Amino acid sequence: MKNPIITLAALAITGLFFIQLSLKGQNYYIPLNDQKAYEAGTRSKDGNPGPNYWQNSADYKIDVELDTKEDKIIGKASITYFNNSPDTLHRIVLRLYQNLFKKGNARQFPMTSEVLTDGEEITKFVAGGEEYDLSEGSRWEITNKNIRLKKAIPPGISETFEMEWNFYIPVKRALRMGKYDDGHYFIAYWYPQIAVYDDVDGWDMVEYLGMVEFYNDFNNFDVNITVPGDYLVRATGELQNADDILTDDVLKFFNTAKTSDEIISIYDYQESEKTKLTKKAKSHTWHYVATNIPDVTFLATNQSNWDGTGVVVDSTSMHRVFAEAVYPDSIVNWDRGAEITAASVRYMSFELPGVAFPYPHMTSFCAGSSGGGMESPMMANNGAPKRFESFAGLLFHEISHTYFPFYMGTNERKWAFMDEGWASYLPEGFLPEYNPETKYMQRGVRSYLYAAGQDYELPLIVPTYQHNNYSSARTSAYTRPAVAYSMLRMTLGDDLFKKALLEYMSRWNGKHPVPYDFFYTFEDVTGEGLSWFFKPWFFDFGYPDLAIMEVTGNRVAISKNGVLPVPVEIHWFADDDSGGKITVNASVWKDGDHVTVVELPEGKVFKKIVLGSDLIPDSNKDDNIWKW
Ligand SMILES: [Zn+2]
Repeated sequence: MKNPIITLAALAITGLFFIQLSLKGQNYYIPLNDQKAYEAGTRSKDGNPGPNYWQNSADYKIDVELDTKEDKIIGKASITYFNNSPDTLHRIVLRLYQNLFKKGNARQFPMTSEVLTDGEEITKFVAGGEEYDLSEGSRWEITNKNIRLKKAIPPGISETFEMEWNFYIPVKRALRMGKYDDGHYFIAYWYPQIAVYDDVDGWDMVEYLGMVEFYNDFNNFDVNITVPGDYLVRATGELQNADDILTDDVLKFFNTAKTSDEIISIYDYQESEKTKLTKKAKSHTWHYVATNIPDVTFLATNQSNWDGTGVVVDSTSMHRVFAEAVYPDSIVNWDRGAEITAASVRYMSFELPGVAFPYPHMTSFCAGSSGGGMESPMMANNGAPKRFESFAGLLFHEISHTYFPFYMGTNERKWAFMDEGWASYLPEGFLPEYNPETKYMQRGVRSYLYAAGQDYELPLIVPTYQHNNYSSARTSAYTRPAVAYSMLRMTLGDDLFKKALLEYMSRWNGKHPVPYDFFYTFEDVTGEGLSWFFKPWFFDFGYPDLAIMEVTGNRVAISKNGVLPVPVEIHWFADDDSGGKITVNASVWKDGDHVTVVELPEGKVFKKIVLGSDLIPDSNKDDNIWKW
């Protein structure tokens, strides 16, 4: 028989040990595919990339022609793909994004018939010198094309793929890219792209059906874009041959703008009768080079203004980024497009996240549509909101995607909260520069509460591709995570929040972090178990709801009726017309308590107590007021 006292002691020690473990990161549900990555040492449970971390990459050499008569893209590419994985690759997955618009294909986004096309046609595909016939495909394939290789690619070896393709550009109300009015094109999702092969899932087989956006490797691009002679092309990367294309006047303004603190009008469309943008030619080929970047897009326009300025993004090196706006003449707010682009780049470099803008230029483009925007590295395709604050917020939002998901390489197909959530949260500190009365985050909290706790609202950890409903996708990608990041910042305080965020960004810049890498890094940097916060906000169903339960003398009992932990903010009003505010950190809920008591000043006769604020979400405000 065992000594009962020792057994009890052992139980107590085991219990203690369990509590210790549970403080850091042991409380999360981790799907088996993610667990496998931690076991293989490609990721570490302290939030760092593991000693065995790897990712694949490719060099893309592309020649593309934009045919503005036919509204057609005709391309030719040579892609050298590096297999850095420990696996032999017997197939590759080619993403043919334009099949989203193909007549008859399944989609998650409703589209009008005028937008639909014949999809993406591959006219030639060569792997390792051998030509393939890709005309046969599985009926399950929509935008992902599985190609079984005749010669497998062993670990550590590269293979070169040659291909030719074409597609008709979706027109008018296309999603994220297309032809807008005459003379205004934004070309994205446009070249056959090798899907990501990673340590969690192997090949990424998520279809691009309209709801999900980016998950790309970090690649090198050398792109020649041929357009009619009078078109301007701005693209991801550095322009290599401005001297050959731009007229002397425009070239002079272009070069001046890059180092100017002022906004320079590089080209004014109203002057187009007098001043020409480009040297006279039937066509020009614009040559762009970009390295270690997840994607390349380009704009092409012969009817736009072009403004630019040089923004210092590092006060030691005085390195400058070229911030520019390309927009139709006389469209509302856009005469300030370059200014807002520059201010956004400056804010992100010095304030939040506080990382020097990582690209040589940032181009905000407007094609004249009124809707939202779409990001890509160095290039944003925006609408034209009429309210100035919405306009500034939109430009900032799209530019902030530079950090998430481009600097960070997060998987937006699975966890949009890792990029859209940040892009929705970051404008909070920027917009007051233009409107000190801005209610940006208050509006964010309100729009989150509209969905919080409704049956369509799913936990953030549910993969984005599982959402098939606009409200549930939107809440999960934008509003709930933005509020969660705001609550996290209130909980940790500005300094610790920023320190942890910068450490997460430094560890995972140019890599592919999953949500656990984010949670573990925050726990590692803060030295605290944060599962009491992350688990309810990111893994659980539920909504925030605090209530005033009881007031006895100067003691206010607050009950946590909802799942989500939020700070307690109490506004008190006394008979002598005095009043005040007491804030208690959300960590008061970390041990799982459902009631906390807040003490108000002594010696007062209270007449009203109000719980909460418009920055703290609360799904039921009826129980937030106590009156006598
Ligand atoms: Zn966004």
